[in-house]
Amino acid sequence: MDLIDKLQTEGMLTEDEFCRLLWTEDGEIRAKLFMTAQQIAIENFGKRIFIRGLIEFTNYCWRDCFYCGLRCANKKIDRYRMPNEVILDCCRIGYEMGFRTFVLQGGEDHYYTDEVMGNIIRAIKHLYPDCAITLSLGERSYRSYKELFAAGADRYLLRHETADSLHYSRLHPPSYSLAVRQDCLYDLKSIGYQVGSGFMVGSPYQLTEYLAKDFEFLRKLAPAMIGIGPFIPNKNTPFRHQKAGSLELTLRCIAILRIMFPKANIPSTTALGTLHPEGRLHGILSGANVLMPNLSPVEVQEHYTLYDKIAGVDGSLSHNLELLSNQLAPHGYTMVVDRGDYVPEKTNQ
Ligand code: SAH
Ligand code: SF4
Repeated sequence: MDLIDKLQTEGMLTEDEFCRLLWTEDGEIRAKLFMTAQQIAIENFGKRIFIRGLIEFTNYCWRDCFYCGLRCANKKIDRYRMPNEVILDCCRIGYEMGFRTFVLQGGEDHYYTDEVMGNIIRAIKHLYPDCAITLSLGERSYRSYKELFAAGADRYLLRHETADSLHYSRLHPPSYSLAVRQDCLYDLKSIGYQVGSGFMVGSPYQLTEYLAKDFEFLRKLAPAMIGIGPFIPNKNTPFRHQKAGSLELTLRCIAILRIMFPKANIPSTTALGTLHPEGRLHGILSGANVLMPNLSPVEVQEHYTLYDKIAGVDGSLSHNLELLSNQLAPHGYTMVVDRGDYVPEKTNQ
């Protein structure tokens, strides 16, 4: 039994085995890794790709994560908050184009109290009751998560970023804690959200063992969604001179995660598309089943700079969708009109 058979039957490997699989130069094993992951995705979802419309509604953030261009210490970006009408406009345009999930993402912005956020969620649900709302607003209290769930939010994305606490402390100011972030994820799960977590690949100071720890943590959390992407430097952060994560390593992580979590919704992220013009297609061919095109107006996209962007990855929605469907079509994949909810494994129910 090779490493991939073991991963598939046991859903887990040892730390040393994960490291070997992530770096193997054996072409046959590598090909089998990608092939197995792709096959599992097709068995579970067909060649149907779920689309989620990303709405980057605020770039204000009071946090100071070292890797991120929205950090409060960065005085070189123009900060914005989208008026509620603009958020609803993004939903309308997205709905007409076939989106049935809206992802509201932003920095941690105190302007968005539970009341303000709750009103936005209720307004979207009122107009589009057949759509799912995913929030990605960072760390909040249990009570706040509960209120937003009661207002109608269905899912929450909160990457744990790295499951090694020493590594976590090298990516964030000293007062931030991995344990607190992980507790948020368990809170979200207990409230009833479909929860997404994940990590950056190739972030500064990352060791391969840390990736093995990420897989282990995700095994414990058993999330409905797993978002990973390469670290990409931002010129206005302390990590401006650090190297970006690699496409190959990110794809191997996606393939491993697909084998470990056959039913999870795994996006092929924009950061992958930033590393390589066909990065998002490669993500799909490595087992991802979700794409998250940007519904934000083009004028605000340039200010939502988590990392340095390149032209053509986001941009106008219709252009972006056309580009993606042209990449997918030759491989037989299509984007579908569907909420794309998580359907857990029978054994997990
Ligand atoms: N404020 C929220 C959501 C916005 S940030 C939060 O932090 O959860 C969303 C994700 O962007 C983060 O979880 C992080 O993994 C990713 N990100 C931030 N800076 C990045 C960078 N320089 N390269 C790649 N991904 C980055
Ligand atoms: Fe703020 Fe999220 Fe960026 Fe951290 S990663 S600075 S919380 S937007």
